[in-house]
Amino acid sequence: MLQEARLILPLILFLNLLGTVQTGSASVQPPATSAPEQSFNVKTAVDAYLAKMPPAQRTRSDAYFEGGYWLMLWDFLLIVFVLWLMLHFRWSARMRNVAERITRFKPIQTALYWIQFILVFSVLTFPLGVCEGYFREHRYGLLNQNFGEWMRDQVVMLAVVLVLGAILVVPPFGLVRRLGTNWWVWSAVLTIVFAAFVLLVAPVYIAPLFNQYKKLEDARIKDPILQMARANGIPANDVYQFDESRQSNRVSANVSGFAGTLRISLNDNLLKRCTLPEIETTMGHEMGHYVLNHQYKLLVIMGVILVIGFAFVNWGIGYALARWGAAWEVRGITDVAVLPLAVILFSFYFFITTPLNNTVSRTMEYEADMYGLNAARQPDGEANVDMMLGEYRKLDPGLVEEFIFLDHPSGRTRIAAAMRSKAEHPDSALAEEMTRKIFTERLEGGNTLHMNVVRIGGPDLLCDRRVRSGIHDPHRPS
Ligand SMILES: [Zn+2]
Repeated sequence: MLQEARLILPLILFLNLLGTVQTGSASVQPPATSAPEQSFNVKTAVDAYLAKMPPAQRTRSDAYFEGGYWLMLWDFLLIVFVLWLMLHFRWSARMRNVAERITRFKPIQTALYWIQFILVFSVLTFPLGVCEGYFREHRYGLLNQNFGEWMRDQVVMLAVVLVLGAILVVPPFGLVRRLGTNWWVWSAVLTIVFAAFVLLVAPVYIAPLFNQYKKLEDARIKDPILQMARANGIPANDVYQFDESRQSNRVSANVSGFAGTLRISLNDNLLKRCTLPEIETTMGHEMGHYVLNHQYKLLVIMGVILVIGFAFVNWGIGYALARWGAAWEVRGITDVAVLPLAVILFSFYFFITTPLNNTVSRTMEYEADMYGLNAARQPDGEANVDMMLGEYRKLDPGLVEEFIFLDHPSGRTRIAAAMRSKAEHPDSALAEEMTRKIFTERLEGGNTLHMNVVRIGGPDLLCDRRVRSGIHDPHRPS
């Protein structure tokens, strides 16, 4: 799935950034219980939350997340290698010849080429995809699917990529044939329009291919969410829940779509694992994305990044074809057989701009955090959700590491923001959230049982040092 996804990089980038943003945020709830200590110390409070995750779990999580850095590199290198094979052995030229033999109609030729291309590419990158997406996720207890279920999702994703990819790939080749050297500007514009279209249809037509959506009936949860939506000017009458537990134990939610397709959704893990304050703060964050118009802002920013990317690809194609075009039997930039080269160049561009793209995303996520903290006023619920997200996202990375690799603020950053808010609004403190145990300890020596316990509790990631056990233990409220 990852591999196919990389092929429509701009699309995936948008979907990643916009589609299923996972976070914690805020909502409105009367504070209860405990007043914070007289001299509330933000850093101490942050460390206390970070200490909620058992050290062994952290070590494992660190290993998982840091391994992901290397996987980015291996993915990139493998993709480039596979695409180079397609050019070097003239498989790409042959696929074009097949398409030309079937029809003389150019757009259909492009689509036929695309189908062959994506199938060959998927087969060649399948081994890494299985290791990375199935075995590795299982090894860290992050996947709830058996192989058959997992494969079913991969096949559905392949079908989605086949269709959306054809829609994405056919027009640029038409533009190249008609506009010549200026094709890349208009292709960038078209890609943005396409991304907006996908954002529009994804929540209603694509997401249900992978998960079941149904209206949330529980008034104890639904009413406070809708109340917060109304208070924040969000036109929603229903809240949807979806069964992400079939894939993993990750908590997530989103406010997606535009006017007609607007939808507030939260997954069943959030419902099962979280308290109302935690759900509220999460929904407040998601509503922040909506109210702050992050989708539109992202489309504009990505538009700029894409125009530069297309310019680079245009230049790179000219450069490479002048040297190797004849050997690859690629006739020129209007020849669809050039696609592997274009994808190599795009992959390279998005690989080196990873820190930039992550920073754009991370900045918006931080804004949504601020919004959620203000909307929900549940700083302790927020901190607990941030810890749960630490199951698959590093809680306490270094500054440079956060800048390069994290598309959301780190757990420490987010919890610090929550505690800073709490320090200024002492009445928002919730003792039961502070003392709530969110991770299940692993049973020593267990086998199957042990795995189950780990999975229910949420296996995880991150954060090393700083756990000065005992001192300011959140389990022992002052
Ligand atoms: Zn978010």
